[in-house]
Amino acid sequence: MNTPLIRLEGIGRTYRNGELSTTVLHDVTLDIHAGEFVAIMGASGSGKSTLMHLLGCLDQPTTGRYLFEGEDIAELDSDQLASLRSRTFGFIFQSYHLISSANATENVEVPAIYAGLPREARHARAEELLTSLGLGERLQNRPNQLSGGQQQRVSIARALMNDARILLADEPTGALDSKSGHDVLQLLKDLHARGKTVIVITHDREVASHADRLIEIRDGRIIHDSGRKPSPAEQVEAPPPRPARQQGLAAFGDINEAVRMALRALKANLFRTVLTLLGIVIGVASVVVMLAVGNGARQDVVERISDMGTNLLLIRPGAPNTRRSADGTTNTLTPEDAIVAARVDNVVAAVPEADTRATVRAGNTDAQTQITGTTADYPLAKSWPVASGVFLNDDDNRRYAAVAVIGQTVATNLYGDADPLGQYMLIRNVPFLIIGVMQEKGATPWGQDQDDVVFVPLNTASNRLIGSRHLSSISVLIEDLSLSDATQEAVRQAVMANHSGIEDFQIRNMASLLENIASTQDTFTVLLGSIAAISLLVGGIGVMNIMLVNVSERTREIGIRMATGARTRNILQQFIVEAMVVSAIGGAIGVVTGLGFASMLQYFGTPIQFTAGPVLLAFGCAFATGLIFGFMPAHKAAHLDPVVALSAD
Ligand code: ADP
Ligand code: MG
Repeated sequence: MNTPLIRLEGIGRTYRNGELSTTVLHDVTLDIHAGEFVAIMGASGSGKSTLMHLLGCLDQPTTGRYLFEGEDIAELDSDQLASLRSRTFGFIFQSYHLISSANATENVEVPAIYAGLPREARHARAEELLTSLGLGERLQNRPNQLSGGQQQRVSIARALMNDARILLADEPTGALDSKSGHDVLQLLKDLHARGKTVIVITHDREVASHADRLIEIRDGRIIHDSGRKPSPAEQVEAPPPRPARQQGLAAFGDINEAVRMALRALKANLFRTVLTLLGIVIGVASVVVMLAVGNGARQDVVERISDMGTNLLLIRPGAPNTRRSADGTTNTLTPEDAIVAARVDNVVAAVPEADTRATVRAGNTDAQTQITGTTADYPLAKSWPVASGVFLNDDDNRRYAAVAVIGQTVATNLYGDADPLGQYMLIRNVPFLIIGVMQEKGATPWGQDQDDVVFVPLNTASNRLIGSRHLSSISVLIEDLSLSDATQEAVRQAVMANHSGIEDFQIRNMASLLENIASTQDTFTVLLGSIAAISLLVGGIGVMNIMLVNVSERTREIGIRMATGARTRNILQQFIVEAMVVSAIGGAIGVVTGLGFASMLQYFGTPIQFTAGPVLLAFGCAFATGLIFGFMPAHKAAHLDPVVALSAD
């Protein structure tokens, strides 16, 4: 057992700042054996802290070799170094270096988190250590609620947490009054007596006198070494048994722990966190609302058009792309065109319509309304059945019968609550028998009341009310919607043949009209969504900003975590998780806010469509925002140099 625990061979350390290079340590050669109590003494600026960082593997020498138990640490990568630090060294600093947002117990637990000790075991051990150091009453206190001496004892408990074999103390009493300083030294002596290797760095000869071995350093060179003094502790060489490590669920435990730490860190800076949340909340809520409104509007328009029937072709008089004649009518469609169209394959019915406006009267009440002359297939073509009575039939048409079927608005206007069936109404002073009342149809997408109408047989309308045989339109009901284009063309050819080859009419396809309108609405929804997405992006930049501030502000904390065994991966994960926790909380609040706002709009009559898609999309975007915008700051944090991070203000 003659291998020294630590062997430094000709160690040098040179700092380079651009052109300027300063050599702080020169040719330091040193053996430290297990169980020693060493004081390294020197004036301020002599290189003591630099040497301690090297001894504790926080920093690497520029020249020379560092052998730990005979192994060159230059061979280890940064994770292996982190693991060596975590298992072997406990650091005690002059300014304690506690994490200010964490309480005493949580601070002591930090090294065990990175060593993978399960939560309960970790907690119990931290409390036990603090109690044994006389802090049993101060477990929940934050560093700023503790005196200097108490804070230093917390940091000693932290150094002992992973059962470190070597305690490295850099001016441990430097910031303490003489009584607390004495207590801390006594503690280190006790720990040495229990078998720890203790290395104390000090500029104070009195402090150094407590150690068994004194190494003096000046201007980066060892000028005196009192040499090794055999100590009883050296016989108990065997390292203590390691605390059990968590296996299996380690990765899950890591994340769980990172989420806890993130929540604590976010709570520590509540106001800033709330502001960041606000950005995400507004972004997510507006995406949810905008998409719900956009989809609602689309749904509304589509439904109203579908109500008019999608499997309809509409033939209107007048050549394509021409205006109507000066009197507002174009007299090119005739009832024969409807008969021709009805014979085309895939056509179920072709329903002619001849419209005019007229005054109707029942008793003393009269009203202006639309009169539509049509045939028996009208209810079929328009999917619009009668509510009571019957619709016009072919016989009525043949007989030029004076019968009428009225819409709900006309029924209400003329008869109020009374039953119009069997009553006579006057249309242009001609009495018509009411044989049916239509069901309520509602308004068209452009707001026209479809129920303000009276249906009469086509022949009756042409002969007795309009005085011409010309039609306003023909509605063609088609059977198989998938053949609608071919059917439209066949109808066009058939009607054209009937018009001596002249195309003095136009055919519109309701299905393609619907498609056009739906896609216009989709464009509108995407536009709304994109505007909202921009606010989400702004929210994301807010997250990045906060995380960057966080990283700069918590540089020292990052250094502390690295000194207590955190690997690059742990730091990266911690900051990404923090960003994602903010985004996820913001996203969740945003979704709820958005749904609430959309419900309110719906309550006040705006058509709204709630679907899972936009909600998941917005939440997913918020989450991704956290990940993407959190990565840069996290990467910055994880690649800090531990020594530089520790010395940050
Ligand atoms: P001590 O702990 O003995 O007071 P340090 O080891 O902290 O001394 O510093 C030794 C010397 O190295 C000082 O002159 C200091 O200015 C210099 N030094 C320390 N860190 C750096 C650095 N990162 N870059 C350049 N010089 C440094
Ligand atoms: Mg120093």
